[in-house]
This record gives sequence, structure tokens and C-alpha cells, in this order.
Amino acid sequence: MTTTQPAAPPRKQRPPPKEAFIDGIEHVTPGVIRISCSGPALAPFAQPKPAGHIKLFFPPDGVVWPSEDPTADIPRPPSRTYTPRRFDAARNRLEIEFVRHGAGLASNWAERARIGDRVLIGGPGGGYAMPEGLRKIVIVADESAMPGAGMVLEALPQGCEAQIICEVANAAEERALSPHVSCEPLWLHYKNKNALPGALLEEAIRSMPPPPAEAHWWVACEAAAMRRIRDILIKHHGVAPARLHTRGYWKFGDTNHPDHDYGLD
Ligand SMILES: Cc1cc2nc3c(=O)[nH]c(=O)nc-3n(C[C@H](O)[C@H](O)[C@H](O)COP(=O)(O)OP(=O)(O)OC[C@H]3O[C@@H](n4cnc5c(N)ncnc54)[C@H](O)[C@@H]3O)c2cc1C
Repeated sequence: MTTTQPAAPPRKQRPPPKEAFIDGIEHVTPGVIRISCSGPALAPFAQPKPAGHIKLFFPPDGVVWPSEDPTADIPRPPSRTYTPRRFDAARNRLEIEFVRHGAGLASNWAERARIGDRVLIGGPGGGYAMPEGLRKIVIVADESAMPGAGMVLEALPQGCEAQIICEVANAAEERALSPHVSCEPLWLHYKNKNALPGALLEEAIRSMPPPPAEAHWWVACEAAAMRRIRDILIKHHGVAPARLHTRGYWKFGDTNHPDHDYGLD
């Protein structure tokens, strides 16, 4: 008797990545590299929503992806999630800021990047839906979330009051969140403190005076810290979950943490 194999499910059709080329590399602080890339393929790049995200693809050396041959079955290369920090539509130019966190596909790529290198970009997608009538927001970010925090800050409605808390390695890592909007974040320095990622953010939030009930919160940092912060906000400060937008941007010990971790599980 012959058995027929069930047909493989059709592959999910995703739009091809947009191709751009690096035209600027700037060491913003000792721990952050800003890479700018541009090219005509970025022309349809939609103006990203605040703290939206892109995917950067990293084909292995020597692999041409996507292939010009439509019949070639080249697997989708590994990707990582980043923030399209600034897009200049007049020049089709995108800026991305990379934390130099050590061993990681994207972090290493940014360390080795050279002018003229090819960049493959998916998206943009996601982003923070600004609450109606927003009057007060608390923005909580670690180094990886500072580009997103800067975008949120720039998109706040007129008159909205922002309180900002940022955790960075040390004073050398303090940087302007935005070139246009001035703000005075509370800076927390984790280097030499032997603290878990996000622990200083957690401590600062736990010990703050009761926040005003009308405040909304945008929180993005390491995934476990984000969950602890959510807990403190809901259980200790009585913040309504509907006022929380919390994101795990990376997870200690995990590669390629998913881009949709809101800490709701
Ligand atoms: C919506 C969204 C937007 C993001 N925007 C940015 C951005 O603009 N800039 C940015 O730098 N990151 C950003 N991130 C975080 C970034 O996606 C992760 O840090 C990612 O893991 C980096 O990939 P990698 O290949 O360098 O490291 P991976 O291969 O994913 O991880 C390797 C190791 O490094 C650790 N690691 C990963 N990230 C960090 C970190 N930041 N600090 C310390 N250790 C780390 C991991 O736990 C793992 O052990 C964003 C994430 C999301 C979800």
C-alpha cells in the first residue's frame, strides 16, 4: 500500500526586504553606534509610528538573498528587531542606533559595518498608539529602548508632561533623547553595580512617590525587568493596566527575543 505525504503548508508570503547602503557611521557614545543608510528602495518606507520597529536581515557571508532567481529556495536569513529612529523622506535615509552589547549577530554586524555595506530592511511595523487626550506620561527605557523613547517624546501632544527614567552603563552613555525636544531624564548608572539588567529602573519605580492616576506609562527594557516593573506599577502603585504600554526589547541569555513581548502572559 502506498501512503501519500500530506502537502506541506504554503510558505507565508512576505514582502521582499528593502535594500539600502550605509552612508554614515557615528560613534554617538562609547556604547552606541548610529548607522545611516539610504537608497531608492527606501522611497516607499512609511513614516514609522513612534517606537515602531524594523527587521534587519543578516544573510550568511557569500549568500545572495533574496535571490534574483525566483525558483531558488534560499532560506530566509536570521533577522533582528531595531527602531527606525529617524527617516528622512527627502533623502530616503534611515538612521538606526545599535547598542554595542557584546556578542550578538546584529551588535557584531554594527561593529564591523563600513560605508557602502548593503543593508536589508523589513517593515516598518508596530508602534505606540498615543492615548487620546494624553496629558502626562512616564517613559522608562534602558539603552536599547532610548531610540524608541526619543520617538515617543517627539510625538507627544502639545502640553503633555513627560517624566523620563533611563538606565545606562555610566555617565558617558547619557545622550540626548531628541535633538528637538529638550528633557531632563533621571539617569541611572548600572556599571560597577553588579545589578541585573533593569534592576535600577525597577528600584527607582518602586521607590517613587505615588504617580498621578492620569499618567500613562511607556516602558521598554529587558524582558524580565519589564515584567517586574509591570507588577510594581499594577500591584504597588495601583496603575490601571490600560495605562501601561510595556515592551520586552531583549531577554537576558536569549537570542533574537520576539518583537511582540508586551509582558501580558
Ligand atoms: C521593538 C524593538 C525595538 C528595538 N530597538 C532597538 C534599537 O533601536 N537599538 C538596539 O540596540 N536594540 C533595539 N532592540 C533590541 C534588539 O532587538 C536586541 O538587543 C537584539 O537581541 C540584538 O540582537 P543581537 O544579534 O545583537 O543579539 P542576540 O543574538 O539577539 O543576543 C545575543 C546575546 O546578547 C544579549 N543581548 C541582546 N541584546 C542586549 C542588550 N541590549 N544588552 C545586553 N545584552 C543583550 C542576549 O541576551 C543574548 O545573550 C529593539 C527590540 C525591539 C523588540
